[in-house]
Amino acid sequence: MSDFKMETKCVQSGWTPKNGESRVLPIYQSTTFKYDTSDQMGRLFDLEDSGYFYTRLQNPTNDAVAAKICDLEGGVAAMLTSSGQAANFYAIINIAEAGDHIICVSAIYGGTYNLYAHTIKKLGIEATFVDPEVSREDLEAAFQDNTKAVFGESISNPSLVVLDFEKFADAAHSHGVPFIVDNTFPTPINCRPFEWGVDIVTHSTTKYMDGHATCVGGAIVDSGNFDWDAHADKYPGLTAPDETYHGVVYTQKFGKGAYITKATVQLMRDLGSIQSPQNAFYLNLGLETLHLRVPRHCENAKKVAQYLQNHEKVAWVNTPELEGNEYYERAQKYMPNGTCGVITFGLKGGRDASVRMMDNLKMVAIVTHVADARSCVLHPASHTHRQMNDQELLEAGVKPDLIRFSVGIENAEDIIADVEQALAAV
Ligand SMILES: *Cc1c(COP(=O)(O)O)cnc(C)c1O
Repeated sequence: MSDFKMETKCVQSGWTPKNGESRVLPIYQSTTFKYDTSDQMGRLFDLEDSGYFYTRLQNPTNDAVAAKICDLEGGVAAMLTSSGQAANFYAIINIAEAGDHIICVSAIYGGTYNLYAHTIKKLGIEATFVDPEVSREDLEAAFQDNTKAVFGESISNPSLVVLDFEKFADAAHSHGVPFIVDNTFPTPINCRPFEWGVDIVTHSTTKYMDGHATCVGGAIVDSGNFDWDAHADKYPGLTAPDETYHGVVYTQKFGKGAYITKATVQLMRDLGSIQSPQNAFYLNLGLETLHLRVPRHCENAKKVAQYLQNHEKVAWVNTPELEGNEYYERAQKYMPNGTCGVITFGLKGGRDASVRMMDNLKMVAIVTHVADARSCVLHPASHTHRQMNDQELLEAGVKPDLIRFSVGIENAEDIIADVEQALAAV
């Protein structure tokens, strides 16, 4: 980790050119890398030397950007993935296999819910979903002998639950399993989960990190804090020989880098969900202004939320930015400088009025995406969470009339003016 402050890390971390090299991070638009001798390349395949040989596993542009995200989170190792979905998939299957079990906080992104509730189940990994406000007693009861991880989102998309980091970290660690958190919404600018006991952080870099809605991508960052060897029987993939590399034992050979190294040389090798170097380059441009954009998103979101709260046609507004919100106090503790630019609200006219209001917006667009420079809205019950039944919707904290409003970094008065005319038309 560098000693720089966050703003400097956003601009400077990752790529440090040597004398005469490109000042700006170069795009290594190459699938492959050249070696002088056959033996040198052979040593790479044995993990005896570190180096690049094929971009399905690793690429220097990607690694520079991963190093910046690693520095921002305060971790020891990181990797980029082709999407946030790939990051959350790899984060689990790097340590769990058929016959294993995970505990997942129920208030999470719809795509992650599908992945953990349905797709990894087909691979033999069962997930138990627990309420974010689950009592410690009920949380304890969710653990099984084969539990390998606890997963949550620092601020859930779209229900905006602020995670009780310490409760879940403490429970996970008392059962000898790591706590994995998706930190997409607050970004490391507003929240650094490793400071609250989280072991592994994931990101959909598609959102604020890219910030311009140009590239789908993901990242996994390891704090290096979880002691795999202390629970070696649970994590043989990290602590027992890997025959596909002549019996290498990741924790012995790579120490605190074991988790990310295994995910790179084994999962990326076999499943190949690498981010393209071109996308990593764009992601890096986004990261260079993350510290400027995120506070403005939060400031604008708060102004829009305050406006909506006082509007006669609005039934409710949800954002931990507002005093009186059930997660306001917790947000003050874990992310005192701000939460995120996403807010939700519903209209007194219910589901139909919410949809009609959205249809009347002029500048603010209806898009699936969230968390980029441009203000946008989405109706989860009709869009992202369409596949969920009413019970699942409620468990995920999504009301049928809920509009997810991703407040951008335009002038707040222009955003509010657009909302005002759309509400007038309902
Ligand atoms: C969007 C999102 C994901 C999925 O990321 P993709 O980059 O779209 O694959 C995961 N988690 C959260 C919190 C998200 O908002």
